[in-house]
Amino acid sequence: MALVCFPFKKEDVDVVMRNVKTAAQHPRVRMVLLVGASENETYVEIDARLPALGAQCDVPIVQMTQLRLGALREGKGDGMNTALLYFLRAHEYDELFGEPVVSEPLERIHFYDADIESFNSSWITKAEEAADMEYDVIRHYFPRSSTDAQITWQITKVGFSLLFPLSVLPWVQQPLGGELCLTRRCVDVLVSDERVMRQSDWGIDTLYTFVCAQAGMNMIEVYVPEGKLHALYGGLRDLFNMLIECFAALQGLQKCSIRAESVHRIASAEPVPNSVTSKIGYNIEKSLVLLSENWTPRQEELLHVLFPERVAAGLIACRDWPQYSFMDEATWVECYQVLLANFEFGDSDWHELIFKLWVSRVLNYTMRHVIRGYDTAMNELRHMVQDIQQKSAIEL
Ligand code: GDP
Repeated sequence: MALVCFPFKKEDVDVVMRNVKTAAQHPRVRMVLLVGASENETYVEIDARLPALGAQCDVPIVQMTQLRLGALREGKGDGMNTALLYFLRAHEYDELFGEPVVSEPLERIHFYDADIESFNSSWITKAEEAADMEYDVIRHYFPRSSTDAQITWQITKVGFSLLFPLSVLPWVQQPLGGELCLTRRCVDVLVSDERVMRQSDWGIDTLYTFVCAQAGMNMIEVYVPEGKLHALYGGLRDLFNMLIECFAALQGLQKCSIRAESVHRIASAEPVPNSVTSKIGYNIEKSLVLLSENWTPRQEELLHVLFPERVAAGLIACRDWPQYSFMDEATWVECYQVLLANFEFGDSDWHELIFKLWVSRVLNYTMRHVIRGYDTAMNELRHMVQDIQQKSAIEL
């Protein structure tokens, strides 16, 4: 039997409650766990509405705030890791969590973002049916808008392809996806890995994906054709922390190696609905302005000393007028390698610099490829990471 966890911070409580109810009423689900970032307004409102919802469901619904487990910013990583510990101990008395809530050890844990408007019971069913086939990790993947997922594409997929070209990692469809199901065996591996438990921030998804691959966990990716409808980003600035924390997590793994062989299956995709192909993932006009913001003399110096001159000249010219034509795929890979070797996590100039470099990359991709249509744009993204993977594999 399964536990379904919804980590949440600040969300629309109607959406959260609907998702909790869907999970609690699923025949495979033994309990639902809500892990909040803090006792904020969302938490208090959910608390007030839980008794009424509980009366309509036969399984326990437990809400708690996340434990402080990691060493980095207190974020989603602490939330997910709290859920892993709870999952392992929910059937017995535990010093951290108190009295048992279920009588038998739980077999599987599912994670779903709390804010998904298109969530339904088939998401749980698909994962459960795949887990029945003895996979340890079941990841959901979705059709995405061509301008969505630009941290996944430009940071994580590029990084996995550069650093681990022969592993399973470049083949993972959505390596930062927060919708996944893990077996008890897999959770044991994750919680006993110090790198996972210290990753309290947005880097957690990278660590789960990486450590499962390194441990040789069998993985299947199941397809959810309706896509993941959730609130859109404003400008790319909304993604500042996520970008930096996802890159830093990957940079921290660059010296690791992956030797394990594991099974990886990908359920086939279906035609992408118009609601997804026609969607714009971020506000372009608001994002152009970002290239001119928060400059310091040190950022200019770092650019001149460490990066190709055309990148330094192009990005610094953005102080006066937005430019992005210099940041094509090949240039991005050059910059990425400089960043892997030199980026300093916690240094505000480096944070601003990687952010502006990435914004120029996303704008370059948008203006050169996205305007030529959905299929062309997605093909360009796929070709970019395939080329990187191939070149890196040859150089090994
Ligand atoms: P995105 O979908 O990847 O852009 O990320 P979201 O901002 O939608 O966050 C994904 C999920 O993680 C949502 O359910 C958030 O409410 C939740 N979340 C974000 N930050 C935290 C946090 O610090 N702690 C916990 N427990 N949940 C968080």
